[in-house]
Amino acid sequence: MRDEARALLEEGHKRALMLMGESERECSFDRFLESIEAAYSARDEKGSSVRRINVEIPPQPPENLRKLSRARIGTYTVFQETYHRKTYEMMHPSGPKSSYLDRLYAMDEALSNGLNDVGIGALFGLYDYRFEVLSLIEHSRHLDSKFGVGPHTISVPRVEPAEGAPLASAPPSGVSDGEMKKIVAVLRCAVPYTGIILSTRETASLRDELFSLGVSQISAGSKTGPGGYSRPGSGTQFSLNDTRRTGEVIDSLIMQGYIPSFCTGCYRLGRVGEDFMELAKPGLIKLHCLPNALLTLKEYLQDYAGPEAREKGEALIEKELGSVPDPARREKTRENLKKIEDGERDIYF
Ligand code: SF4
Repeated sequence: MRDEARALLEEGHKRALMLMGESERECSFDRFLESIEAAYSARDEKGSSVRRINVEIPPQPPENLRKLSRARIGTYTVFQETYHRKTYEMMHPSGPKSSYLDRLYAMDEALSNGLNDVGIGALFGLYDYRFEVLSLIEHSRHLDSKFGVGPHTISVPRVEPAEGAPLASAPPSGVSDGEMKKIVAVLRCAVPYTGIILSTRETASLRDELFSLGVSQISAGSKTGPGGYSRPGSGTQFSLNDTRRTGEVIDSLIMQGYIPSFCTGCYRLGRVGEDFMELAKPGLIKLHCLPNALLTLKEYLQDYAGPEAREKGEALIEKELGSVPDPARREKTRENLKKIEDGERDIYF
């Protein structure tokens, strides 16, 4: 795990997502917690460490959720796969994943047992995408009205060919690129405060387009085989359509005028759960997001970017600094950018 985390750090990453399968025999929950600690303890040559680990793991009993809440994680995510119960039961006829309701109420359990930030998602392609979108919106509304905390993120993966899953090559309710655009646009309008996550399953050109419709978070340089970062050629779990290196994804975002952000400010300051929602819902969070994005981009440019990306990134920072709405925050951001140039790291609002 340390080797894997170090390999990610060397690419410039600061945030990582850790997954665990359903088999207790292959990996116990306590071992997974140890793995999180191991990943946090890794350092690259520049002394950087992973600043936030989000987890995507199966529904857990209350005692495990309470342990997880003490494990310095960011967002806890469980995908429903499909919200359509009959399809779900057909796809998962046996084993630990067979309980539709355990999965559906995983977030209620998490928020009742000490976790503050949760992520939801559906695997598009198993059932009618319109039903899945309405269900994601309803799931968000339910969490918000019951706990005062809607989903921190919504993920919209599409079924992709996967090893040992013949169905994945011909999904029963395949979703076209045009429909993907509608899915993202509708979710962005319906749940404006949430982060919408897109994976490297999608092609580079579609990912670029979906940014303009509402996607806010993407993975970059992902490997889907265990050990794949530190031992290239370790196999894959499913196919990826965006195989660009992290640096290439970042360059492309900068070229399009987007600010690649590695921010972890909210988690570090305990700005989570209801406190986060109070700022996110009215859009006030951007007073933190924009300066933090500029500071983390500056760090990346200093430590990991080539000369060309650095030049373009610096120009973007200078341009976007003018968009920080509050003059005092703008001035403080400028000061902090200078501190980063002088060697300080990990500065955030
Ligand atoms: S300040 Fe914005 S980008 Fe940073 S962790 Fe909070 S919500 Fe995310």
